[in-house]
Amino acid sequence: MGGGGYTVRRQRLWENSALQSLDALLITSGVNCRYLCGFTGSSSILLLTPRRAHFFSDGRYREQSQTEVVDAEIHIVDGPLLPALKPLVGTSSAIGFESDHLTVATRTQLSELSPRLNWVPVSGVVEALRLVKDEGEIALISEAADLACAVLGDTLDLIGEGTSELAIAAALESGLRLRGSEGGAFEPIVVSGPRGACPHGRPADRHLAEGEAVTIDFGAVRGGYHSDITRSFCVGQPTPIVREWAEVLTRAIEAVLDRTEAGCPCQELDAVARQVIDAAGFGDYFVHSLGHGLGLEVHEGPRLSRTSSDSLAVGMVFTIEPGIYVPEKGGIRIEEDVVLAPDGPQLLTSFPRTVTLPQS
Ligand code: ZN
Ligand code: ZN
Repeated sequence: MGGGGYTVRRQRLWENSALQSLDALLITSGVNCRYLCGFTGSSSILLLTPRRAHFFSDGRYREQSQTEVVDAEIHIVDGPLLPALKPLVGTSSAIGFESDHLTVATRTQLSELSPRLNWVPVSGVVEALRLVKDEGEIALISEAADLACAVLGDTLDLIGEGTSELAIAAALESGLRLRGSEGGAFEPIVVSGPRGACPHGRPADRHLAEGEAVTIDFGAVRGGYHSDITRSFCVGQPTPIVREWAEVLTRAIEAVLDRTEAGCPCQELDAVARQVIDAAGFGDYFVHSLGHGLGLEVHEGPRLSRTSSDSLAVGMVFTIEPGIYVPEKGGIRIEEDVVLAPDGPQLLTSFPRTVTLPQS
């Protein structure tokens, strides 16, 4: 991203009414720090005032800070970062801190910096900005989605009788790196047979058998941005029940896409999917929420769930991932990545939704 982008983000941050009475805001989330100044390392804090930005890191990141951090005064600190704030906060009366991203121990350290200073808990202000993606962010998520689809395609040959879940996971992980992903978005989920009833099962040393379904859920990372795709496949000819599940999930996804428009409450999308699955008689077996936002984190806002208070806006990128999980029998899930464009939803994941493998 061009340097100006980070400055614009920081300016927009100060338009948030939650910050109006504050002299400064301390950013302790590494992801939020990256979003606001460009730094990709693992040790950093950012002190923002309406006009300035102070970036702190340690000696390991001296070079990297110079290259990456945009439009901020860089402080390389010998030892813990927080004490280095002391000379800067002395004249402030109220400074916000990210209450979602601070340990109790760190909170205590803040109080010790300056006894008269009022530290004000602030929640979700940077996350609120991150909800709507700019063109550059959408392009990166789209690249990550293309990459994951390509790797999934590469892996299909491997799915067959006798292959272990771990072997499939290994192929996904190495395939991602070989095709240019910055590692995996998360540890791949590969669950087969009765284990398909565990939505988030870890791959095991379990070998696929004829007639079983296997569910694969993984994602790629490009420029720090994540994709997240799930498909389920049958070894050999799909059984009638797996065909039926897949058909119901596809209808649920289509119904959600039909309802996807700016202003729509996210809990309504969750309800639309649940209605389709309920009507087919599998309502008790859709045991998680419909989806989540994608960005610098693989799970971020908006939340597509029964209790979500988010509403859709143009520029949001999120997953639609209905599933059916029948205890002791098995289950499947289909997960798509979607951007809400000005003229409606666009799928970023372009992979057939069929449960039938090409050679079957
Ligand atoms: Zn997923
Ligand atoms: Zn997901």
